[in-house]
Amino acid sequence: MKLKIAIQKSGRLFEDSVKLLKECGIDLNNGSKSGVLRTEASNFPLEVLFLRDDDIPQYVEDAVADIGIVGENVLLEKGKVVNKVEQLGFGKCRLAIAVPKSEEYTGAKWLDGKKIATSYPKILDGFLKAQKVDAEIHEISGSVEIAPGIGLADAICDLVSSGSTLFMNGLKEVEVILKSEALLISNKKLSDDKEALLKKLLFRVQAVKKAKRNKYILLNAPNERLEAIINILPGMKSPTVLPLAQSGWSSVHSVVQEDDFWNIIENLKAQGAQGILVVPIEKMIV
Ligand code: ATP
Ligand code: ZN
Repeated sequence: MKLKIAIQKSGRLFEDSVKLLKECGIDLNNGSKSGVLRTEASNFPLEVLFLRDDDIPQYVEDAVADIGIVGENVLLEKGKVVNKVEQLGFGKCRLAIAVPKSEEYTGAKWLDGKKIATSYPKILDGFLKAQKVDAEIHEISGSVEIAPGIGLADAICDLVSSGSTLFMNGLKEVEVILKSEALLISNKKLSDDKEALLKKLLFRVQAVKKAKRNKYILLNAPNERLEAIINILPGMKSPTVLPLAQSGWSSVHSVVQEDDFWNIIENLKAQGAQGILVVPIEKMIV
């Protein structure tokens, strides 16, 4: 028995999805190179299906795949019934409304009576209803950003990451209607065996995610400052403190979070810490 996972066959989620599996210690036999549409892991009971991202929610709902990796934007748009298992921290983007730069956008009411081009009619409709705006949704499947320029629409609703595509097409972002990232999703009714495999995979995914957010830190501390230095370090439980060969000094090891990392380093230096080493963590199990 194998757990079947659907991932994007090529595109923005493909590489990160394969990388995540690899970081979870799962080796795929032949990747998705050269048009292979399915493969098996050599060291985990996992079968990988490579699909268009738009099809993944449906396949997971229908149990053709047990689990899948897909952007929250696609999941919401398709409206399929699946479980959201975990946010994966990659594929970050936003679904935004953009209008021609020259327009003076005064708020959602500006959209009243306008024509909006999008590949996300369902999510857009939800937004417009919530804002009590009556606009016409014009569904197109690609190159949405050129629609205003060719007179097809007054505004667009599309995915944005840096905004450079909008800029190049003479548009400006005026509303963010969804912030999205890749999600691990699962079928609602997995067998107990598959549920157990998913749990095993999820445990690994969480360890990988956690490790990315943390760094291992080693430093030398003068003993008289040891207490002050230990107080700066949050650590998983408490830091490891080992005596150095040079008397009066100790080596301190701990784990710090990326977010407050630079503040911690500055405080440590101010307290007399020396020889500070910061090392990436590969997996973190707490
Ligand atoms: P497919 O051929 O699988 O249908 P696609 O062209 O629909 O591919 P991609 O452009 O590869 O899809 O994007 C896949 C997902 O990556 C998006 O649905 C979204 O969740 C995420 N994503 C992240 N950043 C961006 C971005 N800047 N633009 C578009 N999508 C992004
Ligand atoms: Zn797609």
